[in-house]
Amino acid sequence: MTAPITMVDLQNQYLRIKPEIDAAIQRVLHSTAFIQGKEVANFEEKLEQFTSSKYVISCGNGTDALLAALIALGIGPGDEVITVPFTFIATVEAIALIGAKPVFVDVCEDSFNMNVQQLENAITPKTRAILPVHLYGQCADMEPILKIAKQHDIRVIEDACQAIGTKYTFSDGTVKQAGTIGDIGCTSFFPSKNLGCYGDGGAIMTQNSDLADKLRAICRHGSAQKYHHDYIGINSRLDTLQAAILDIKLKHLDEYITNRQNAAEYYYKALSAVKGLALPIRVPYSTHTFHQFTLKVKDSKRDALKQYLSEKGIPSMVYYPIPAHLQPAYRYLGYQEGDFPVSEQLCKEVLSLPMHTELTEDQLQYICETIVNCPL
Ligand SMILES: *Cc1c(COP(=O)(O)O)cnc(C)c1O
Repeated sequence: MTAPITMVDLQNQYLRIKPEIDAAIQRVLHSTAFIQGKEVANFEEKLEQFTSSKYVISCGNGTDALLAALIALGIGPGDEVITVPFTFIATVEAIALIGAKPVFVDVCEDSFNMNVQQLENAITPKTRAILPVHLYGQCADMEPILKIAKQHDIRVIEDACQAIGTKYTFSDGTVKQAGTIGDIGCTSFFPSKNLGCYGDGGAIMTQNSDLADKLRAICRHGSAQKYHHDYIGINSRLDTLQAAILDIKLKHLDEYITNRQNAAEYYYKALSAVKGLALPIRVPYSTHTFHQFTLKVKDSKRDALKQYLSEKGIPSMVYYPIPAHLQPAYRYLGYQEGDFPVSEQLCKEVLSLPMHTELTEDQLQYICETIVNCPL
């Protein structure tokens, strides 16, 4: 065995681009324009080009991106926003924080994403938006979601925090990137995300110029012009150091995605015949950028497999062990165990394997051999 295996390997990723990164950091330090330096607008423009999004507004993190999106659409107390309980809590938290009510629909057991069949039933006269999550790097089925939203005149906000660079194909062949499909798309540059900075960071995408202006103002205390406040906003900025780092990492994003897809390909080849495991399915309408490579472990053996791997020096993670509707903080919504059986079952079965841009063939071989030879 060579280097220890980790869930993510930001150290070796950094070392490969160290000269460029160090120079960019030095440049910002010398400029002392730590907030709103020219690197920020430059990065927004580069991300617009990369994602083919008309407007990119950077902000402090992915959670703020979701908050700003909800505020920009005028959503608040008395309103309902439909999302899924099988997600990172920030999706639900943002809805609750602005005073709206999170309304859940279950996810599909194969794609892990929003079950579109259940959408119509969840819509009420109070529904203002649908907030699908592109979990683990694969898009939710956006075309039917957009159709239903249009029929009911409600907005669509994408939680694309795990799916930067993922591509969705419509039935007419049109291809759009995650985050650029709905009214507003939100992403995160948390260090372990597929495009991660060296601290917190996020961005909001939209194709509508009025929404873009509003989102930009909302992230600056609701102000388009200094000391003039048109909206109640938040203070949420991508700092210049992070923008400079992201500009460099964005140039490598295609290669990072390919590395993840290659690691996933190795897992598919080596593990597809293993009894008791279900490998992640790849839906026809979306590419998969493998923010996570997430297995389903059958017969209540997930925790035992996790323990076994850990003893063999292989980390693994459960994303996520408890669905949002059963979290103590969200008990007030009145949901109960059994309300979203697929999400609840997934919380008992899912296990994410090491997935990052620096996995070596030796490491992948060791991980897969260990799983194949696991006596469970
Ligand atoms: C990471 C993540 C967020 C929040 O992003 P932060 O930058 O950590 O605030 C929101 N939703 C999902 C699905 C995420 O994975």
